Amino acid sequence: MPRHIPQRTCIGCRAVRPKRELLRVVRTPEGEVVFDPTGRRAGRGAYLCPDPACLDRALRARELGRALKIDLDAAAVEALRRQLAELVTGADAGAGR
Ligand SMILES: [Zn+2]
Repeated sequence: MPRHIPQRTCIGCRAVRPKRELLRVVRTPEGEVVFDPTGRRAGRGAYLCPDPACLDRALRARELGRALKIDLDAAAVEALRRQLAELVTGADAGAGR
């Protein structure tokens, strides 16, 4: 029997993919919105492909704010863009931090 693989929908392009191929974005209890590479942080989450185009699409369509039930200001958007760029380019480089 095939093992059940959890699937999630990217809020940018709406593709349904295995959860581990997507990046989790979480709204922390402190009201911050951050990427959650471990997938374990507490808070309300949404999923995105590891692709800046999907983040852009989700932001433009206001899907991210809606999914996380928060108003994203310019600083939060900028921080997310930077985090995603780091995650995409330095996939296994940040392990020592
Ligand atoms: Zn996507």
